[in-house]
Amino acid sequence: MLYTSTRDTSIGLSAAECMLKGLSDDGGLFVCQNLEDISFDANSFIGKSYQYISAAILGAFFTGFSQEEIQNCVDQAYNLSNFDTELIFPTKAIDKGLSVLELYSGPTLAFKDAALTIFPRLFELAKKKCGENDTTCVLTATSGDTGAAAMDGFGKVPSTAAVTFYPYQGVSELQLGQMLAQTDAKTRAIAVEGNFDDTQTAVKKIFSNAGFNREIREIGHFLTSANSINIGRLVPQIAYYYHSYATLVSQSRIKEGQKVNFVVPTGNFGDILAGYYAKKTGLPVGKLLCASNDNKVLTDFFLTGVYDKNRPFYKTISPSMDILVSSNLERLIFEALGKDGSATKELMDCLSATGVFSLSAELGELAGFEAGYASGEDTKTQIKEAWEKYNYLVDPHTACGFKVYCDYIADSGDDAYSVLLATASPFKFATDVYEAAFGTLGQKTRDSSYIYALSEAAGLPVPKKIEQTLAIAKKEEIVVKPSEMEDIVKRILIGEIK
Ligand SMILES: *Cc1c(COP(=O)(O)O)cnc(C)c1O
Repeated sequence: MLYTSTRDTSIGLSAAECMLKGLSDDGGLFVCQNLEDISFDANSFIGKSYQYISAAILGAFFTGFSQEEIQNCVDQAYNLSNFDTELIFPTKAIDKGLSVLELYSGPTLAFKDAALTIFPRLFELAKKKCGENDTTCVLTATSGDTGAAAMDGFGKVPSTAAVTFYPYQGVSELQLGQMLAQTDAKTRAIAVEGNFDDTQTAVKKIFSNAGFNREIREIGHFLTSANSINIGRLVPQIAYYYHSYATLVSQSRIKEGQKVNFVVPTGNFGDILAGYYAKKTGLPVGKLLCASNDNKVLTDFFLTGVYDKNRPFYKTISPSMDILVSSNLERLIFEALGKDGSATKELMDCLSATGVFSLSAELGELAGFEAGYASGEDTKTQIKEAWEKYNYLVDPHTACGFKVYCDYIADSGDDAYSVLLATASPFKFATDVYEAAFGTLGQKTRDSSYIYALSEAAGLPVPKKIEQTLAIAKKEEIVVKPSEMEDIVKRILIGEIK
């Protein structure tokens, strides 16, 4: 399978090359040249382990890798040293017709671990295949969860540097703690003055600055992206959709071949795009429900066909969804436009020039999506309701999905079996979850007190990984302006920042 660019289909690169490059030189995203050549028999996965399903899927997408190489990566990533459960990602029924796919048993307790435990290993193989000997420097823009997961994943691979930029005061106390706790000479988290979009835009600029990339080469490093635009991030996520379906059949909640709706709390559109790829490759999927928070640019897009990022940016209690430019949407647009690279480029150029693009909402590929959003108040109400009605604790991101699910069921009467993707542990956002479900502990109470209070009130143990993070002494935050980001990367790589 070769990969092409969403903005120029004359390009054809191997999976390994795409992993190293991250983004195409023309600014486009890498996509399969012939996605329709890949298909899986979802029923053949019934009763199979997560590792088995993951290896089968990765093998089909990453054809330049041997099955043995893939299996090694899978075994090193999806095991009990990284994940709290042998199931890796359990699917649990919480109501008639509704299960939750818990994606948060990994090292940083959020779904990004699904990809970031394996991607660094695939990446090292990709380097070998491409004859790349310089040291990897992974640059990441994070709204909170990617950063910690990237630092954890890449930190476990020797001779790799990982610099993560996050919006200053834009992440939770625990997310910050996780990132700062992992800091060492070449694994650093740096705060940027601005919001996530400012941060992501600035990181994209660094990647496209040829002069700066040359300078980094001269000191023995090469830059790459660990963001969810990398195919090495995207493809591993397809597995949990198949695994969840297979689990539902095993549990007799659905029949073989019965279509399932997936409800996905969405930010950069990576998680839900993996669901779309699952559907395109043979998984019986009904609707994909795209759930947003107050930054509901995607909800509006699916309703009207107009993508308009010119709007106020809201800081919400679901920060990993506080995004106005959902990068991975470009891959869906490309498919919706019949794989027309120049038409996709035109829309994306329009987006970067004016902040807006529009396309006909009737485009076939978009019909499989439904979209909705939850306001800040809705999110809190939903956390409380989930606890009181279902005795199930959800984090604020998952709560947005839950709200969109409830609205969709009420409006559509669709009775398809649904799976809600739980993208983070409620303990990762303990303060907001506790306050929504149980009330306040009083002002100035630190997040850590809420973690223990939440454990007490809900009768659930504090995840071990959180206890470990709280126990580690943290470094000071370093805060830079977007214009100072290149400089700080260089200083980290030459060992100037201690
Ligand atoms: C990253 C993240 C999301 C959004 O996922 P995308 O792939 O960016 O759409 C949702 N919830 C949590 C907890 C996340 O960390």
